[in-house]
Amino acid sequence: MSPISKKEKATLVKQAQDHFWMHAKIWDPFMTNPEMLIIMDQAEGTHIIDVDGNKYFDLMSGLWLVNVGHGRKEIADAVYEQMQKVCYVNTWEFPTVPAIKLATKLASLAPVGLDCVYFVSNGSDAVDTAWQMAKQYQYLDGFPKRYKLITKRRAYHGVGSGAHAATGPGFFSRKYIEPMVPGVVHSAAPFCYRCEYSLSYPNCNLLCASDVERQILTEDPDTVAAVMGETISGSPGVISPPPEYWPMIHSICDKYGILLILDEVICGFGRTGKWFACDGHYGVTPDIMTVAKGITSGYLPMAAVIAKKKVRDKFKPGWVETFQHGYTWNAHPVCCAAALSNLEIIEREKLVENAAEVGAYLMELLENLRSHPTVGDVRGKGLLAAVEIVKDKKTKESFSLTDPFNVELTQQLRKMGIIGRVRNILGIAPPLITTKSEVEWLVSGLDKAFGEAEEKFYSVKKKGGEWKQTRKRNR
Ligand code: PLP
Repeated sequence: MSPISKKEKATLVKQAQDHFWMHAKIWDPFMTNPEMLIIMDQAEGTHIIDVDGNKYFDLMSGLWLVNVGHGRKEIADAVYEQMQKVCYVNTWEFPTVPAIKLATKLASLAPVGLDCVYFVSNGSDAVDTAWQMAKQYQYLDGFPKRYKLITKRRAYHGVGSGAHAATGPGFFSRKYIEPMVPGVVHSAAPFCYRCEYSLSYPNCNLLCASDVERQILTEDPDTVAAVMGETISGSPGVISPPPEYWPMIHSICDKYGILLILDEVICGFGRTGKWFACDGHYGVTPDIMTVAKGITSGYLPMAAVIAKKKVRDKFKPGWVETFQHGYTWNAHPVCCAAALSNLEIIEREKLVENAAEVGAYLMELLENLRSHPTVGDVRGKGLLAAVEIVKDKKTKESFSLTDPFNVELTQQLRKMGIIGRVRNILGIAPPLITTKSEVEWLVSGLDKAFGEAEEKFYSVKKKGGEWKQTRKRNR
């Protein structure tokens, strides 16, 4: 368990620079400033440990997914046992015991009516698969021209070709990714803090929801297969639509015979304090639901598309009318074993209930951060929360990704022993095993980290629990 030597670390850094193509912005300091590079080595519970032996609180459960926490031996044992029994079969031809058991378990946990489970390997596959499923469903239902997908702006659905189109061109540089797969139409984001119409809830009458009907009519209902959205979005800013939003979208879809697909890749499996956010917080059961991440808590890659029977029953056995889709890793038996063990832990340890209770406490404490000059908003549900970071509270202008303030905040968080992702938001989604006392420690660490970072650029003082800015931004 002892940290590695300086020489071993230097070798690892050099090998990483030469051979490991790391994605996104992280690659930059990695190549130019290896001091910024943290190589992770071990993890236990809510913490991750780097090769130098430094221990960090895992603020975002990796990428919003290590729901049961790190180092669960029983999942490792279940995986080991399954690997010895049978590691792989041709999943296009044969089901396996863990796949059938997991499908049954998921049907019992999912919103009532979502009974049929199609396994894939990651969130992007799930989204691509759900769109493909909706298109073929519509075709078999007598609407061969219904192929379009309506998604929201400020969404994140992944980076497979279909998923990337569903996400839209706003997330990565347009220059390299366009043209995108055709057929996706984007409607307004249900994002009250930055309303596209500059309206306020509830006086807005949810124009963002009625906008979806307008889009359907503009496109022609006979060309639209499905409407899709993250029930509560994660990466684009932890955005919970108002309570009426999904019920309104659901009835618009029903009116035109269009399928509703809800993407619960992040918010499924207890993250928001309910097993699933759609029925749990909005009272809505979609026609198709996509899940991933928390399904195995990251112990192995796995995802699923869970559909109503009416959807599956449209498909017929045989070559032509069966679902024209499938990956080599569909229903991988070892991943199914990991998922079964993970779900057993979530149920046994009542982690969904814990997420609701500790999440409510987290939201209460996060409110205290609002007086920081760079905290524009705090929001969330259960243990899916965010602090929106702004350059200016009045204009709500965001920092650029590489702004020195973001770099400084990242460094300050590390000093406090917290590892997370600083972008336009600071995502706060710790493992669902997090306790109230950990939340107290955590929010106090965030408060200090913001204070230290702001001091460099604004000069701030804390008086009577409130942060005051004493001069303008320093640049
Ligand atoms: N859908 C949602 C809501 C997501 O948050 C993500 C990833 O974060 C995806 C889909 C894509 O999942 P993956 O990265 O596993 O492809």
